[in-house]
Parts: sequence; structure tokens; C-alpha cells
Amino acid sequence: MDKFAGEGIVIRQYLGHYYVSDGSGEVDCAISSKLRKQLEYPEANPGSRRRRVQSVRRVRVVDPVAIGDRVRFDTAAGNTGLIREVLPRRNKISRRASGTSGREQILAANIDQVLPVFSVDEPPPDWDLLDRMLAIAEWQEVQAIICLNKNDLPYRDGDREWAENYERIGYRVVYTSAVTDMGKETFRSLLQDRISLFVGPSGVGKSTLLNWLQPGLRLRTAEISQTTGEGRHTTTHLELVRLSGGGLVGDIPGVKEFYLWHIKPEDIPGLFREFRPFLEQCRFRDCSHVHEPACAVKDAVEAGEIDRRRYTSYLRLREKP
Ligand code: GDP
Ligand code: ZN
Repeated sequence: MDKFAGEGIVIRQYLGHYYVSDGSGEVDCAISSKLRKQLEYPEANPGSRRRRVQSVRRVRVVDPVAIGDRVRFDTAAGNTGLIREVLPRRNKISRRASGTSGREQILAANIDQVLPVFSVDEPPPDWDLLDRMLAIAEWQEVQAIICLNKNDLPYRDGDREWAENYERIGYRVVYTSAVTDMGKETFRSLLQDRISLFVGPSGVGKSTLLNWLQPGLRLRTAEISQTTGEGRHTTTHLELVRLSGGGLVGDIPGVKEFYLWHIKPEDIPGLFREFRPFLEQCRFRDCSHVHEPACAVKDAVEAGEIDRRRYTSYLRLREKP
């Protein structure tokens, strides 16, 4: 009785509850079991050609619905609902869930921009981790804006040049300090009216920066378990918060590792945007830019046109996506 279909955006996800904002309020939704099944999809076992058809490995996503998803839902009594359908995603930020093989963890969907946040020191920047985040953003064609916080602290050797290199290759880098208020207005204006997702290790000052946007703003997020081996791998609490000045922000806290999901090795070079002008110039069409002779990418590294650290980062990512 009295059911009606609504459409909205998932802004909070917590222990099987999905809070859907439909413009007029928030509806506490569960997801239909049918939806769960639909979103488990079979994948051929790559190890066995002969048994490909019979033997399918079920690849499940950790959670079929992510924050940022646009969904259709039915409502029931007491402002609760049931999500029937996830509408096609414009993009998704996901990674391989740690702990098990073959699970995709969708961190957020339909994002306008990703903001990797690192600090000048305490902790020092993990550039390789940043490169992984940027690669995911490139893959999904989501704009990335790098935020380098704690600019009141002295830079360690090489870090300033490496930060500037990201600007040289076309990324926006915002230099901030919560101590001196450096970059505050820029930071605020960049988030206005957009759907933004912060990612970064803990301790870099993300909570402090989020407070700049809206004093008292506290994202109800919990550490994503990073346990490797057969440990847990659940995202317990993710949220997009509506800013009073317009826009939504989410925070993926405590990201210490980021393994790429479903990226073919041959697609990785193109995710390093400064490699792109050289990719067609290698002697071999299928050049991996690792060991081949007459490789235009390696030549560009030698000539100083591609930053060597980014190239090394590429090699590591290639080895262990
Ligand atoms: P989060 O784990 O990324 O959310 O980091 P927090 O916002 O909790 O900040 C971690 C620590 O760094 C706290 O002690 C902050 O006071 C400090 N911090 C945050 N921003 C800055 C900054 O710009 N400069 C310095 N020196 N410390 C900062
Ligand atoms: Zn090459």
C-alpha cells in the first residue's frame, strides 16, 4: 500500500543502510536482494580456456551501491525504502579490495573531482600512492586536484620539485596550511557546487581542511579496513556531506594503499598523462616502455622531458597494478 517510486542520490552508507537524498529529505533504504544478485557478475576463469563456459568465477563487488550513486527506490512506511535500481554511473572511483582477490570496492560514484591530499611532512608525501590515485582518476576521466597541506613545514629533499612537476604536466596543485591559512580561499572556491572526494592517508590534515569548508563539519567516516591476507575488507561508513554554500564532499579516510581495479597493463601508460605525446613514437606498437629498445618514453626520461620519479612509479604500478 501507498508505495511510490522515488529517485535520488545515495549520500550515506552504513551497515547495510543507504541514505538517499531526493531533494526533499533523506530516505533510509535497504537494497533489494534482486539488486544484489544482478550486480554479482560472472567472469570467465582466465586460467582455463576449455572450461571457460562451464567454470565461471563469481566476482562480487564488496557493495553494489556506493555513495554518489543515483538510484530508484520504493518507499514504505516511516521514511524507509528499498533501492530497486542503480542508474548508470558517469564514473566510479574504485579499487581492488584488500584481503581477497577479485573484489571491487567502489568508494564513490558520479564524482566531479577527486582531491588526493598529502602533507609536506608529518607524514611525508607518498608520491607513488599519489600516482596511483591520479591513475584511477585518469582512468575514469575524473578531474584530480592535488592538495599539499602543511606548507608551514619545511620541504624535504626533492619534494618541492616533485610537487611542481605535477603542475608542469597539467595538474592543479593547491598548497595549503591550516596553520597559516595559506590557500584557504582557493581551497574553498574549488569545492563550491561540485561533488568532491577526498582521498589520502591519515594525519595529513584532511579533517582540519574540511573544517575550513564549514566549521564543525565532521564527516561520519570510519577507517576502511586495510587488513591484508584473509582479513576484513569492509567499508563501514561512507558519506557525502552537503555544504551549506553548495556542493557535496566525501572523505575516504586512511588510504594507505590503492590497487587498481580491472586495468589492462597496456592501458597503464596512457594513465600517466605526460607519457601520452610519446606513446605513438616507440618502435614497437605494443611497447611496454619497460625494456624495449627505441622506446620514446624511455628516451624522454633520459632527455629530462619525463620526470624520472614518475617513470619509476609507472614501473612499479605496471609490476603490481
Ligand atoms: P587527518 O587524519 O588527515 O584527518 O588529519 P587531521 O586533520 O586530524 O590532522 C592531523 C594532525 O596534523 C593534527 O595534529 C593537526 O593539527 C595537524 N595539522 C593539520 N593541518 C596542518 C597544517 O597545515 N600544518 C601543520 N603543521 N599541522 C597541521
Ligand atoms: Zn615505449
